[in-house]
Amino acid sequence: MVMLVMTSDVYAQIVAYCLERLPEEACGMLAGPAVEQGTAHYGNEACTFYPARNAAGSARLYTVDPLDYLRADRDVEIRGLVILGVVHSHTHTEPYPSPVDIDQAPDPKWHYVIVGLGRPLPSMRTYSIRAGQVIEEELLIGGLGHRQAQLII
Ligand SMILES: [Zn+2]
Repeated sequence: MVMLVMTSDVYAQIVAYCLERLPEEACGMLAGPAVEQGTAHYGNEACTFYPARNAAGSARLYTVDPLDYLRADRDVEIRGLVILGVVHSHTHTEPYPSPVDIDQAPDPKWHYVIVGLGRPLPSMRTYSIRAGQVIEEELLIGGLGHRQAQLII
C-alpha cells in the first residue's frame, strides 16, 4: 500500500487552516523531498504545507488560487523540494473524493489529501487518483525518518 508520511507540524497546520477557512473549503499544496524519477509519486514525505486561497470561494468546491500555486512552486524550487500533492477540506461531507475532485484531479503522481469537517473531530485521509480511479493510501503522522506515531482518526 502506498504511504504518505506527514510531520505532525504539517498535520496541525493543515487542520488549523481548514478550520480557519470555514465555511469555505480550504486548500493548499503539500511539499517534500523528491524521490527518483519513474516512481508512482513525486515523493511520499510531506514536510511543508503551503496554504492557498480557494479561488472558487465555495463551501462545496475548491480551486487552488493560481498565484498561490505559483508562489508554492517557486518556493519548493528554491528549497530543493517538490510539490507532492494537494490538500482540501470537505466542510459537510466525508473525506472521500467527490465526482468533481476525481474529474479535476490534475496529476496522477500527486497525493490527494482531504480533511473532513462534517463530524465533531476533523479526519484526514489521502488518496491517489489516476484515470478516474481512487485508491486510498496509508497516512502516517509524525513519522518522518522513524515511523512511530500513527494517527488516523
Ligand atoms: Zn472535494
